[in-house]
Amino acid sequence: MPPLAAPVPGGSPGDLARAHALAHELSAQGVRGIVLAFVDTAGVCRVKTVPWQGLQPAVAWGVGMSPVFDTFLANDAIVRTDVLGSPDGDLRLYPDLDRLTVLAGQPGWAWAPVDRITQEGEWHPGCGRTFLRRIVADAEDRHGVTFRAGVEIEWALGRAAAPADEFVPATSGPAYGAARQIELSDYTADLLAAFEKQEVPVAQLHPEYAPGQFEVSTGALDPVAAADQSVLVRQTIRAVSQKHGLRPSFSPAVAERGVGNGGHLHLSLWRHGVNLHAGGEGRYGMTAAAESFIAGLLTHLPALTAVTAPSPASYLRLKPSQWAGVFTAWGRETRETGVRVITGSAGHQAQDANLEIKPVDLAANPYLALGCAIAAGLDGLASSATLPEEVTDDPARLIPDEAVARGVRRLPTSLDQAVEEFREDKVLRTALGPVLADAVIAVREGETAAVAGLDDAGVAAAYRWKY
Ligand code: GLU
Ligand code: MG
Repeated sequence: MPPLAAPVPGGSPGDLARAHALAHELSAQGVRGIVLAFVDTAGVCRVKTVPWQGLQPAVAWGVGMSPVFDTFLANDAIVRTDVLGSPDGDLRLYPDLDRLTVLAGQPGWAWAPVDRITQEGEWHPGCGRTFLRRIVADAEDRHGVTFRAGVEIEWALGRAAAPADEFVPATSGPAYGAARQIELSDYTADLLAAFEKQEVPVAQLHPEYAPGQFEVSTGALDPVAAADQSVLVRQTIRAVSQKHGLRPSFSPAVAERGVGNGGHLHLSLWRHGVNLHAGGEGRYGMTAAAESFIAGLLTHLPALTAVTAPSPASYLRLKPSQWAGVFTAWGRETRETGVRVITGSAGHQAQDANLEIKPVDLAANPYLALGCAIAAGLDGLASSATLPEEVTDDPARLIPDEAVARGVRRLPTSLDQAVEEFREDKVLRTALGPVLADAVIAVREGETAAVAGLDDAGVAAAYRWKY
C-alpha cells in the first residue's frame, strides 16, 4: 500500500460514478437512508444519516459535522485541548464505498464508516480511522509488512424492559451453557442471519462466562476493515437485540464485580504473503520479526492501556483471574497474560497463527487501539527487541521479586495510572500525532473527573449503556 494519498475534494470521477450507481441499487432494494458512522476518542460511535440520494454528494463533498466530537466524553460533556473542543469549525464525513453495507437488522438503512476530512480538503489529524490507515500504509512502506486483524466482541445481554436502567440478564443458563443457547435460540439465529446477509464472516457465536453474556468472533481482515467490521457488528447486535426486546451492553463492566466484556484484538504480521507467526526459528515457530513485534507490544502495554481500556469502567474489568490479561507477559494459549500467542492447530499454523491482545475492551476506539498496538509492535520490530521468557499459568502467582526479574508488570489499575504511562510513552504519542495524543489525555482525564466520588457500582451504572 502506498503512503496515504491526499483526499480529492469533489471526489474522483470513478468514485462519483460508482456512488451514483450504488445509490440507485440501494434505492431499488428499499434502502431509504445511509448511516455515516465514526467512533470518537471516548469510544462512542457517532453518526449522521443522509437519504439515499445524498450518497453521491457525500462521496464528492462529504457531510458536515463538528470536530468537537473529538473531545466528547461518554456522557456527552465536552472537554478541551489546545486545538480541540471549541464550538468553531466543521469537518466533512466521507463514506468509504468499499464498506457500504445494507443493514439486515434495520430495514430501510445502509451503513458506511467515514474518514473525516477538513473543509480545506486535508486529512483531519483527529480522525481515528485515518490514523489507522496511515499506520498501516507506513508499516508496509517502511517495514514491508502487512497485517491481518480481528476484534472479538463480547456483550452482556439484558432485558430492554428492566426498570431504572438496571441490568437484568436475558438468560438464566450457566456459562457456555446449552440452556442459554436454547433460551435465545431465535435471537442468535436472527443474528447469524443478519451477519450472513451483511457478508460478515462469523467464526463463532457462543454464550460466554458472565450472566447474560455472549460473544461473536469474525474472520481476520486488514486492520481498517477489521475495525470497521467491529463497529458494524455492534450496530447489528444492537438492532437485532432491540427487535427481541433485549438490550446489549458492550461496556467493559456491566456490573461492579465479576467477569467483564472484553474486546480482544487479534493481529498477525505478514511479509510477501507469508505469516510471520509460523514457520520461523523462534519459539512456537514464530519468526524473529514476530517475536520482536510482541516484545514491542509488551514494552508499551501499560501506556497502550490508556487507549485500549479507556473508560473508568475498564478498570472494573482489568483484574487478575478474569481472563482480561493484566500483566506484561506472554504465553502460548495463556489467558492471564497480556498477550496470548496462538499457534493454530497442526496443519493450520501458516494460516491461523496470530497473537491476541487481551487488555482491550469495547469502550476503546478500535481504530486507535489497533493503530497504537501496531505502532507499539513496530517499535519492537524496528529495534529487533528481544522477547522475554514465556510465562505460563497465572502471572499473579509470581512472587514480586520473580516478577520484577522477568519483567512482568501489573498493568495500570486505574485510568489515571494509564494516562500517566501514556504521557511518558513517546512512541505512542508520536504515532498518534499531537492532536490525537492530546485528545486521548484530555478525554481520559475528563472521564476520570466525571466519576469522581462514585463507588464501583456507580461507575458501572454510569457507563452501563454508553458503549
Ligand atoms: N470476558 C473476558 C474479558 O473480559 C474474556 C473471556 C475470554 O477469554 O474469552 O476479557
Ligand atoms: Mg470471550
